[in-house]
Amino acid sequence: MSTTITSECINCGACEPECPNTAIYAGGVEWELNGTISPAIAQDIFYIVPAKCTECVGFHDHEACAAVCPVDCCVPDPANPETEAVLLARARELHPELSLADDAPSRFRKVGGEAAPAAAVAPAQANGAAAPVAAKPAAPAPAPKPAAAPTASPVGASTDGLGSEFDPVGWEVPVVCKDCSETFSIPYRHFQAGVVFYCPSCSGSYVPKSTMAREVRETFERFYAQRRAARDSIERRHQREREAFAAKQAAEMEAFNKRVAELGREMKPAGKLVRPKGIAAMFT
Ligand code: SF4
Ligand code: SF4
Repeated sequence: MSTTITSECINCGACEPECPNTAIYAGGVEWELNGTISPAIAQDIFYIVPAKCTECVGFHDHEACAAVCPVDCCVPDPANPETEAVLLARARELHPELSLADDAPSRFRKVGGEAAPAAAVAPAQANGAAAPVAAKPAAPAPAPKPAAAPTASPVGASTDGLGSEFDPVGWEVPVVCKDCSETFSIPYRHFQAGVVFYCPSCSGSYVPKSTMAREVRETFERFYAQRRAARDSIERRHQREREAFAAKQAAEMEAFNKRVAELGREMKPAGKLVRPKGIAAMFT
């Protein structure tokens, strides 16, 4: 069965360059096959031309569009079931310049990669277009490329205890490029579903899915909340210690002043009382 795009599409455009068969078009854009131009299948969202989709058979062991879709809306179309042989034949027809072997990459030969039952999701539109479906099929779920999973941890954060590590705006998410496996970083504040990033090594696209963005956000916020709570706790303790120290100092100063005043009253200078006389007395 070919892949279809549901109405959940947010028009991010991430899937279009991933298709090895140029089967994906933006809404309202006419599609082409063997020089023949045909009207757009969908007007408002991206769509897949069933006649050009091979479920990536011949090129990948997964559906490349589904792997990058941030909202998981590239799903198998139960109204259009096709066998691996049909899809491989289509791939060969679309790419006569290639020699696609019988054991070319295919999701059908991946463990658990058999086709989903046709009744798993709502039916597509009667005209065979890439129709929105109400629910995702039970199987097979398009498997994201393992190499693309990000590891959510701040890098470049200060370790001075109370510095910029408490400002997650400056944190970065290290990710692994799905195309060249090189690691690069994405600013945490920009790591959102549907935003397209490009690998600085190979220019391959990297589009976080909603599940990835949510997991990174939860991991960062959980870590940030712990750090902030620890910092607030130690700052409260320091504040209490400063207040106790100031109170102790004030009490000691008061006792000191009191003692000095007592000393002034207690001290008896030596000698008898002598009053000034003569001219000196005039100035006293
Ligand atoms: S499943 Fe593969 S061939 Fe089909 S539209 Fe998606 S990327 Fe293109
Ligand atoms: S990647 Fe998904 S959301 Fe983005 S345009 Fe393609 S189908 Fe739509």
